[in-house]
Amino acid sequence: MTGDNDINRGNSYSGQLVSYACNDTRSIGRRFEETHPTYRNEYQRDRDRIIHSAAFRRLEYKTQVFVNHEGDLFRTRLTHSLEVAQIARSIARELKLHEDLTEAIALAHDLGHTPFGHAGQTALNNCMKDFGGFEHNIQSLRVVDKLEQKYADFDGLNLTFETREGILKHCALHNAERLGDVGQRFLDKSQPSLEAQLTDYSDETAYNNHDIDDGIRYGLITITDLLKIELFRTQYDIVNKQYPGLDDKKLIHEVIRRMINVMVVDLIDTSRENISNANLSSIDDVRKQEQKIMAFSKQMSEQKLELKQFLRKSLYQHYRVHRMTKKAADVIDALFNAFMDDLKILPTEALEHCNTLKEKHGDKGVARGISDYIAGMTDRYAIVEYERIFNPRQLSFVNLHP
Ligand code: MG
Repeated sequence: MTGDNDINRGNSYSGQLVSYACNDTRSIGRRFEETHPTYRNEYQRDRDRIIHSAAFRRLEYKTQVFVNHEGDLFRTRLTHSLEVAQIARSIARELKLHEDLTEAIALAHDLGHTPFGHAGQTALNNCMKDFGGFEHNIQSLRVVDKLEQKYADFDGLNLTFETREGILKHCALHNAERLGDVGQRFLDKSQPSLEAQLTDYSDETAYNNHDIDDGIRYGLITITDLLKIELFRTQYDIVNKQYPGLDDKKLIHEVIRRMINVMVVDLIDTSRENISNANLSSIDDVRKQEQKIMAFSKQMSEQKLELKQFLRKSLYQHYRVHRMTKKAADVIDALFNAFMDDLKILPTEALEHCNTLKEKHGDKGVARGISDYIAGMTDRYAIVEYERIFNPRQLSFVNLHP
């Protein structure tokens, strides 16, 4: 779909890329053919379409770990996505992979997340258990393939295969088949591009580190707790030796920035060795590997696991976080059931969406339409919608029809 004879092709990286990188001049293409952009390459266009989407703007008001209104300094899905993009671009540039593609994948990777973080996703998945379930990776793909509705010629953003492949990080095997081209690799057990692989690792590098920062700020974990974790302690000792008596705010930042750096350096060094051992010469070589090429060293993987387990126990399962997430799950559950009981309380656009899906898929379609409506909500919208539906004090025409 991307012919090599187009004189308008802009900003191609092809001359600076390694032979096994994704190449914007040799993209597998878009679902609907389009003319090439002027002065931009295909992956820049993908990134730009993502940034201009409504789903991207909504990330600002979606929970990462802490609900959005709890404080202005906590990460949201938007700032998380920007941090992932920053890390991914650094890695891509160093390895001479396609930086624009990694940025597009990073900025889009969480577009399908429900309000209220993982609690929201678990609750919605439960609601949808008889109707095909809910997976946030598939939902992100659904957002860019179908739900963004603003182009005259197609539904969705019509992104390239490579960006869509990177967005679909995981999916259950029973869903892979119906996802067509991007689902195929889960059936074939082949690998995605290195750009997709490195963006996935950038995601966990970002959240493992920023969740420490947010957790300390929220008072749920302390430096004393963290000193039990090798990855933290090693960098803490370095900072403490160099800057004895540094105040906690600067100390934490100095430790965390070093942690991100050692993780990124380890990922680049280990992956570079794997690249050399695998003798890669094309993107097809990457795809047919039995295992991912991008990887942390064994030592870093172990340290990372220790950190993840610590965060799960001390932060994600902390009773104060759990109280918040339980309440959030109740909101999602209540909204879903209320809409399923009476579709007529849905706003017009959401009702039309449900009816369109009903024509094709019956009751499953209706549930999917409701799930799309709920997944698209920001935290604050979900709370307001809950109030409008369930709070009898809001029993007025004005509040019911904002
Ligand atoms: Mg993420």
